[in-house]
Amino acid sequence: MASTYDLIVVGGGIIGCGIAERLRSELPRVCLIDQGPKLGLGASSAAIGGINPHLGDYCLGPLGLMAQHSRTLFPGWINRIASESGTAIPLLPTGLLQVAAGKREWERLADEVMPILLARDIGAELIDGDHARALEPMLGPDVAGGVVQPRDLAVEPALIMNGLTRILLGDGGPDLLLSATVISVVSRRTEVVVTLADGRVLTADRVVVAAGHLSHALLDLPDGVFFPVKGQAMEFASPGRGSLSIQCDALVIADGEEHVVFALPRPDGRIAAGVTFEKGTADNVPTAEGRASILRNLALVLPALTAMPVTRRWAGVRPGTVDAAPVLGYVDDDHRVLAATGHYGMGITLAPVTVDLAAKLLLDLPLDGQDRHDLAISSPGRFSGLPVARTESQNPIAH
Ligand SMILES: Cc1cc2nc3c(=O)[nH]c(=O)nc-3n(C[C@H](O)[C@H](O)[C@H](O)COP(=O)(O)OP(=O)(O)OC[C@H]3O[C@@H](n4cnc5c(N)ncnc54)[C@H](O)[C@@H]3O)c2cc1C
Repeated sequence: MASTYDLIVVGGGIIGCGIAERLRSELPRVCLIDQGPKLGLGASSAAIGGINPHLGDYCLGPLGLMAQHSRTLFPGWINRIASESGTAIPLLPTGLLQVAAGKREWERLADEVMPILLARDIGAELIDGDHARALEPMLGPDVAGGVVQPRDLAVEPALIMNGLTRILLGDGGPDLLLSATVISVVSRRTEVVVTLADGRVLTADRVVVAAGHLSHALLDLPDGVFFPVKGQAMEFASPGRGSLSIQCDALVIADGEEHVVFALPRPDGRIAAGVTFEKGTADNVPTAEGRASILRNLALVLPALTAMPVTRRWAGVRPGTVDAAPVLGYVDDDHRVLAATGHYGMGITLAPVTVDLAAKLLLDLPLDGQDRHDLAISSPGRFSGLPVARTESQNPIAH
């Protein structure tokens, strides 16, 4: 194992693994470091797997265009990982139904969301309650309708992580340092110095910080830019005859608070559903309260689902940012330390575009207009000079 590299990637989630996989054949000496005993034990394997570029308030702004760019890259990226790793990673063309659990939400979707989606030309269609139930018979009687987004995809993130892990462990992969915690990343004029908790010191020409919700400890950005957002989810056994026919997402009010209901079919009929948003909580332990909250909210939208056996429950920690956009770009004057983090509830959706842009920056490749747009909204520089004022939005992010 060397101690000097062309590139060190800190963090073995979908973002760090994706970048290390992309760069492994471009640069001779690449090292990937994760504090876990194996890759992918952070948020990435906990994600449900909706590829939903136009869901949630922030995606109605410029983030949605970056996410759409990523959606376009998704099939090619997944097919390459699947074929190079020999891992089956089904990408389901399920589409998405943004469900209106009641009349007020239907009016919001019709008046505020639809005009933006129509302008984006993504085939969105507003439907009433009867149409929604015809499309997905498990929807409950109170559903007032919704918006169909036919091009949204569904994937099982743990399978992407399996595929990436196989490639990274294979011949020609990077040096892998597991169970190794990075405690500092310091940019000097000619190199970056990476110090591990066990005292080892590595150097690299460039370093990517992709440490998920723990990235703030390694990046010199203002307090309040990053925060953890715990999310709990569960899986139901296949209903036997058919499964959920379309991904469903809804905003519901319970106990005077807004909650997100999200449900997505797996290729074998299992249904993954959730999710909680526990801002400021950074553990990954599923709780009885989380389970009760998910089931109560699901009952308002997909009551038939709650009668099915729960086969698995889990939790993960999203890397939240104050404006719900990722942080992608150099954070030092010498352009040696690249942040690739802060993907909040969109890290699976945004993985292909993040990998693509990181590769272009690290290899000094040309950028087109869309790349420049995406990098502008992700720029770490947008936080300079902050006292950070936290913005609260009704439905900031969808997963
Ligand atoms: C319940 C839930 C549902 C979700 N559903 C969706 C969805 O449907 N669609 C979607 O697009 N997104 C979804 N997300 C969001 C998505 O999971 C995240 O945005 C994404 O996984 C972030 O990836 P990452 O690689 O940045 O972070 P992570 O996967 O958390 O990886 C970071 C890695 O860095 C390592 N690390 C941290 N600090 C250090 C250090 N100091 N030294 C060494 N290693 C370190 C960690 O061990 C970890 O492996 C969901 C998230 C949750 C929790």
